[in-house]
Amino acid sequence: MSVKELDKQYIASTYNRFDIVAVSGKGSYVFDENGKKYIDFGSGIGTLSFGIADDVWAQAVGEQAKKLQHISNLYYTEPAVKLARALCEKTRLKKVFFSNSGAEANECAINAARKYSQDKYGKDRFVIATLKNSFHGRTLTTLSATGQEHYHELFTPLTDGFVSVPAGDIAALEESAKNNTLAAVMIECVQGEGGVIALDGDYVKAVREFCDKNDVLLIVDEVQTGNGRTGKFYSYMNYGITPDIVSTAKGLGGGLPIGATLLGEKTESVFSFGDHGSTFGANPVCCASALTVVERMDDKFLFEVKRKADYIVSSLKDVKGITEISGLGLMIGLKTENPAREVVERCIENGLLCLTAKDKVRLLPALNIPDDLVKEAVEIIKKSL
Ligand SMILES: *Cc1c(COP(=O)(O)O)cnc(C)c1O
Repeated sequence: MSVKELDKQYIASTYNRFDIVAVSGKGSYVFDENGKKYIDFGSGIGTLSFGIADDVWAQAVGEQAKKLQHISNLYYTEPAVKLARALCEKTRLKKVFFSNSGAEANECAINAARKYSQDKYGKDRFVIATLKNSFHGRTLTTLSATGQEHYHELFTPLTDGFVSVPAGDIAALEESAKNNTLAAVMIECVQGEGGVIALDGDYVKAVREFCDKNDVLLIVDEVQTGNGRTGKFYSYMNYGITPDIVSTAKGLGGGLPIGATLLGEKTESVFSFGDHGSTFGANPVCCASALTVVERMDDKFLFEVKRKADYIVSSLKDVKGITEISGLGLMIGLKTENPAREVVERCIENGLLCLTAKDKVRLLPALNIPDDLVKEAVEIIKKSL
């Protein structure tokens, strides 16, 4: 049987796949089973920060795999502490909890916020406000946190303790804190799955002020926006605020599964021995892999991310067939006259992999994509509209 037939027979049908069997790649090129070459503007949903089979990344992963691929959190390991230190130095947050995915990083953020608030104010202060149209993951609790009704209907009853408020509406947030049960606010500075929508700068600052005034924790979900994607190391850095807790995953591992929850001053000591854990969390190969991503993200590299993003936006700005461009850095949403899925399918025919988000075409190229491929991709998009 072919790969596609085996997939149909043996894999749960949760994904409506595009008609490609991916076999290999290099940098921002992907090859399918027929040897057809594609430029990759999806990068594994923003996970392949330095593209496919990047040399620096592959060497670090290979060396660590030959040395010690796993040992568990019962022992100390060097890749984990080096990565944790790098993340704290880049953010000035205090401590890191490692897990394996974005949803798990958010679960930890939620637990940390609840524990801080309940320890200090009593058992009733556990509510987390999230934004309408947000996306925070697929575990039952992070689905409950996600502010989109259609994710809620399938798996009731949901986890208690989440309310969603409209982005941009500070009064609604204040209302949600009225009965003194609010522990935290969780936001994505750029809503990714929700359609690549950047939050307004004044609103994000107002949320920070609201949180400070009420000792409510601000959690920023940097799962998709983080690790250089928006042209800053974390997207909140575009907004001049500092969160109390940051969750991240996707691009952090450069293509291996790792999640991290960064705890600031208020929550750095909230967990004691045994309060939280993850068997594969801080896996040495994943940490060594993530370290090659984080260490290369200096100002010069981030400037290049912005420059490439500016080029894409300015090249597509007045193109017929595109009605709106949104996003931040190399996280770009295109509202198109034709349905997004159709445009993406035509891009694929023309040799470009890209994504959708709601009614938008979503572009998430590798952060180190070469200029000539960016140029070529822009031309393919134009002719696929
Ligand atoms: C993808 C995503 C998640 C979930 O990450 P997983 O690794 O799939 O669990 C959570 N939050 C945001 C903002 C995401 O984009």
